[in-house]
Amino acid sequence: MCREEAGVMVLTYNCIRSSVKELRVGLLVVGSVALDSVETPFGRVTDALGGSAVYISVAASYFTAPIRLVGVVGNDFSRSHIAFLEDRHIDLDGLQVVKDGKTFRWGGRYHYDLNSRDTLYTELNVFEKFDPVIPKGYLNSAYVCLGNIDPLLQRRVLERVSKPRLVVGDTMNYWIQHRPKDLAETLKVMDVLIVNDAEARLLTQEPNLIKSAKRMIEMGPSIVIIKKGEHGALLVTRDTIFSAPAYPLENIYDPTGAGDAFAGGFIGWLARTDELSPENLKRAVIYGSTLASFCVEQFSVDGIRDLTYLKIQDRYRSFMELSRFDER
Ligand code: AMP
Repeated sequence: MCREEAGVMVLTYNCIRSSVKELRVGLLVVGSVALDSVETPFGRVTDALGGSAVYISVAASYFTAPIRLVGVVGNDFSRSHIAFLEDRHIDLDGLQVVKDGKTFRWGGRYHYDLNSRDTLYTELNVFEKFDPVIPKGYLNSAYVCLGNIDPLLQRRVLERVSKPRLVVGDTMNYWIQHRPKDLAETLKVMDVLIVNDAEARLLTQEPNLIKSAKRMIEMGPSIVIIKKGEHGALLVTRDTIFSAPAYPLENIYDPTGAGDAFAGGFIGWLARTDELSPENLKRAVIYGSTLASFCVEQFSVDGIRDLTYLKIQDRYRSFMELSRFDER
């Protein structure tokens, strides 16, 4: 801490460091805000609240505050959705509302095993010209989570935010296939890349996931997480490989947003604890998996709408039990 000697404030290295640390607060989330229409073998919803920024923010809101959302919606975005996000204490100063446009809409249909889905339509609407404007009050965010948007926009966000402590980012097959150069530049400025197994293989052209993760680390991020749906997730750094199971659920209704809820739980825990040690990264992966497991139990964001920290802790502990065994 800073100390006073004979009435003069002595600035030590640690003092300056902690003051700088104090200046950076909160979690900035940038991504899509959507109205999703989803069909699964167990039901369907139309124009339900969705989008990567929504899932990430809601999941993270159980761990940390403030959460600052940057996204765009049209004039058809219901007040009840806004009220819900505000109730979760998500700061919406960065949510642009375009008066003469419609909200981004996505439609998907899941197959019988719920592992694969077809995109039925993507109506970009106001999302097509999305330019993430970061309000001044958000510029000091300590943690940044970049949902799946154009990698060029992801990079622009990072150019505006001053030196966050951790940048977590997501991407998808479209950007890998159609914007490889932009994505490569963006990967250089990400600390953590979260992708699913198919995206990892596509990005690196490497079928083995461990080798694939190592290649992704060579591209920039020092931490790579590969989500494997019902088979859990892999955390890979230069020195660590950690394999987390998926929570064995009997009732899965809608896998939409599971990946984003994972990202929200992961970064939410890191922002809460402000510790990036290897052990804490593993905990964050389990918190991410915990939030993803709640997410898929209901349609849209309903599975993570009314959680409590206690409920999350209970599932986190049963996660620990899942893979615990004695040496003998
Ligand atoms: P996930 O199931 O984790 O892949 O996330 C699904 C969410 O991503 C849905 O709520 C969609 O609205 C949103 N989404 C789907 N396609 C896109 C896209 N091209 N860009 C941004 N968000 C999208």
